[in-house]
Amino acid sequence: MADLFINGSWVEAADGATRVVLDPADGSVLATVDEAGKSDVDEAVRAARAAFDSGPWRASTAAERSRLLRAVAGLLRENRADLARTESLDTGKTVPEAETDVDDITAVFDYYADLAGKDSGRVVDTGVPGSISRIVYEPIGVCALIAPWNYPLLQMSWKLAPALAAGNTCVIKPSEVTPLATVELVRLAERAGLPDGVLNLVLGDGAGTGAPLVEHPGVDMVSFTGGVETGKRIMAAAAADVKNIALELGGKNPNVVFADADFETAVDYALNAAFFHSGQVCSAGARLIVEEPVRDRFVDALVERASAIRLGRGQDEGVEVGPLVSQAHRAKVERYIAKAREEGAVLRCGGARPDDPALADGFFLEPTIFDRCDRTMSIVREEVFGPVLSVETFTGEDEAVELANDTEYGLAGAVWTSDAGRAQRVAARLRHGTIWINDYHPYVPQAEWGGFGKSGIGRELGPAGLEEYRESKHIWQNTDPAPMRWFDGGKQ
Ligand code: NAD
Repeated sequence: MADLFINGSWVEAADGATRVVLDPADGSVLATVDEAGKSDVDEAVRAARAAFDSGPWRASTAAERSRLLRAVAGLLRENRADLARTESLDTGKTVPEAETDVDDITAVFDYYADLAGKDSGRVVDTGVPGSISRIVYEPIGVCALIAPWNYPLLQMSWKLAPALAAGNTCVIKPSEVTPLATVELVRLAERAGLPDGVLNLVLGDGAGTGAPLVEHPGVDMVSFTGGVETGKRIMAAAAADVKNIALELGGKNPNVVFADADFETAVDYALNAAFFHSGQVCSAGARLIVEEPVRDRFVDALVERASAIRLGRGQDEGVEVGPLVSQAHRAKVERYIAKAREEGAVLRCGGARPDDPALADGFFLEPTIFDRCDRTMSIVREEVFGPVLSVETFTGEDEAVELANDTEYGLAGAVWTSDAGRAQRVAARLRHGTIWINDYHPYVPQAEWGGFGKSGIGRELGPAGLEEYRESKHIWQNTDPAPMRWFDGGKQ
């Protein structure tokens, strides 16, 4: 035990509180971890504050921070298999998916190690004789980093690596549903040699741990990934102290397929877009918008392949999709399925729990496709965050764009066509933070990630992902100071 990491030490919760973490594949107890309360959060913020205000971190050079990030990346590489296994057990995702996540975060730590010292500001040509003016970048201070359960390691690392590269200190809080791999990540960061207090870990839920962290006056910035409603609450709480804020929220992402797209490839990727990680992906292509002439053939092909997806425990060989993360989350997805039926969508496959007795204790749900959907329906408008695909049709480019932009979100979307001009025209008109053309899902540390509309505020990854964690400061020098006599007591 002792799963909280505060000021360089592993400690238990002050009041002894704990929480059990379940294996979503069979509902058994995976671990019991410490649950931080208000006083633990207070200690963690105090440690981060002291490390920022008076510790050695503040004086560290970009080169030193870069070396530390690279050391973390090295340890991630060495511990890839163990981390991936823990992430798979905790989230239910398959081991190959979890390995991809570990590879991604390794690349993210390497990327920000590279970027840390690259841009130390700029000299400004003021046009004013006798002046030197420059812009420098400084860390913001103490950052509270809060992550969701679907990509625990990945979402936390997209925040942590740039926050540390910029010279901030951090208090991090993973989701209470999936904290285990983040504990291992912090152990690796400790081994890499981060000074005490620079990285602090608190575990617990939103009300008992997250809220006191966000509301703490010692925190300068909150970076949050999660649902829209939580994002609104966090934004309101941060407003009390005018804290800096970055929000990565949900998505309802259109996957637009024109009739001239390569049929096989578009079907294959539509399947992946919707059902990868049981659809528990903020950028999931959960909204298929397909051109009328190919709709029936396209949906038939999807139904055939979706019905053959192999469900099972994420650590078992040959399993393609794991369970949903929790019983409560599966119940939420099932409510959307019931509502879709009530609203007149036509169920083409899935819609129920698998009847395999080996999966009965896990939180599984069959890949589900609803045809004949329209944009008034809840499954088209709201984020279901499960293995549920809705199908709409369109005729022509204008209608495709109108449908794809008719969402309050704006995280990601894709367009499939063999017409190069149309691909660019449609991509230019879509109001989403990432647009894939004849592809779905790739992301790289070098390219910004984030959303339009209610999908969030700010960007992660890329150079902008570092900017989120820096203040810019203007330093002006007069090289030839002399009285200016703006006020001269009426002598003139
Ligand atoms: P959630 O909003 O319920 O919780 C996210 C995190 O916030 C958890 O750690 C939770 O404990 C914490 N939290 C909850 N209430 C809080 C409060 N009042 N103050 C501080 N912290 C609080 O989200 P979730 O169910 O864990 O994750 C699913 C959601 O995350 C989906 O909506 C999904 O779209 C979104 N998501 C977005 C992205 C993206 O890049 N835009 C990526 C992954 C997930």
